[in-house]
Amino acid sequence: MADRSELTSYEYRKLRARVLAESDVCIVCGHGAADTVDHIVPVTKGGARLDPDNLAPIHGVHGCPVCLRKCNSEKSDKPLAAVTQLVTSVDWFAGP
Ligand SMILES: [Zn+2]
Ligand SMILES: [Zn+2]
Repeated sequence: MADRSELTSYEYRKLRARVLAESDVCIVCGHGAADTVDHIVPVTKGGARLDPDNLAPIHGVHGCPVCLRKCNSEKSDKPLAAVTQLVTSVDWFAGP
């Protein structure tokens, strides 16, 4: 009997390598050097788990070397639009 979780993680690693080979620009913060991928539409929201079109580069547990955000944990299982909207709606450099 095949271990389905092993199979899935193998397929996932292959897809992750393929997505990162195409681009390493993080979908959350827009900086390079993303080291993992995340689902654009979360699997819990009906997104395809192993569809390369539903996977995009993102900064994983080590965070972004440029802005130091933990993009993947920030995104969590939220839809991408909710996270990027949060970012662009806050002007970090706005003075009083
Ligand atoms: Zn990032
Ligand atoms: Zn960044």
